[in-house]
Amino acid sequence: MTASHPAEELRGAGLRVTAARVALLDAVRDGDHLGVEAITSRVRDRVGRISHQAVYEALHALTAAGLVRRIEPAGSPARFEGRVGDNHHHLVCRSCGAIADVDRVVGRDVCLGPLDDAGYVVDEADVTFWGLCPRCRPKTG
Ligand SMILES: [Zn+2]
Ligand SMILES: [Zn+2]
Repeated sequence: MTASHPAEELRGAGLRVTAARVALLDAVRDGDHLGVEAITSRVRDRVGRISHQAVYEALHALTAAGLVRRIEPAGSPARFEGRVGDNHHHLVCRSCGAIADVDRVVGRDVCLGPLDDAGYVVDEADVTFWGLCPRCRPKTG
């Protein structure tokens, strides 16, 4: 699997290519469901000064173009990830806010099976599992 260069992907999505957007796309992809603060500091490490507003606008543009995915667990600030289009789900730690990907739900099809969907055409399921991550859960034994 070959990853194309971020600049080409931006161009392909019809977006203007800027150093900040390239750095931002890299930061989101290298990171693990980063929040805006973490993304901003990584982008600053690479391109120098950039305002929060510019980061927000770039994130919005990249999200709208489908290059990054925004997730927003209830009660938590938005996080961004580079894994798009595969309809995966998330585990969120109630204690520290850590987020892990869940590829699919085993044994219970809550994904995109035929639903009695009240006439809706369903194209996405967004499931968040809440609990305690391995670091936060009580130690056993
Ligand atoms: Zn935790
Ligand atoms: Zn994810």
